[in-house]
Amino acid sequence: ISDINSQSIITPTINKHYPLCGSHLQKNLILNSHLKYQGRQQLGLFLKGIGLNIDEALKFWSFQFTKGSNTMTMEKFNKEYKYNIRHQYGLEGARTNYKPWDCATILLKPKPSKGEYHGCPYRDLSLDNLVHNLNEMGINNNQDINGIIEDVGKNDYTIACTKVFELTHKQQLEKSSNQAENLHINHPNLYFDRSRQLEK
Ligand code: SF4
Repeated sequence: ISDINSQSIITPTINKHYPLCGSHLQKNLILNSHLKYQGRQQLGLFLKGIGLNIDEALKFWSFQFTKGSNTMTMEKFNKEYKYNIRHQYGLEGARTNYKPWDCATILLKPKPSKGEYHGCPYRDLSLDNLVHNLNEMGINNNQDINGIIEDVGKNDYTIACTKVFELTHKQQLEKSSNQAENLHINHPNLYFDRSRQLEK
């Protein structure tokens, strides 16, 4: 049985395996009880990729959109957003089995405007905000941070992300039998899968 469901994906146990793009989207969805279209696509397909099934996806999205003091009703959610989620799973329209976006696809989409959270945070966050997020991921060493900022300055966003993966998985990578393997993160779901694999 999969341990990926509408409840578990908001716990640190699962969340700690997300790349920054995924956690940034999910964090802001939870905070705002809403996410605009591109963000819903990027996060929705990422979640599909980690193994969230359609029933759990609908539970997750409807709960987030209707929770707290939000004025969105279940009826309105079903009318305006359910189709969108089912569409991601190939259950509506052309019934395409959409794949989660890789980093190249994410970087080709229009950049997020104010109030949008899709995209690649290494490219799209202000430096202050990026450093704050790195600190939250446990990266505090100035040299490490400067190295990441340098990659960002060269538009090498996936290299910055790979560096973050290596820094946040240092111990597991040292123990891992294929530690010599130089993995370049070019897909958010690769980041997630590799992170979980290292935990085993
Ligand atoms: Fe996400 Fe790719 Fe950017 Fe990493 S490099 S944050 S996986 S889009």
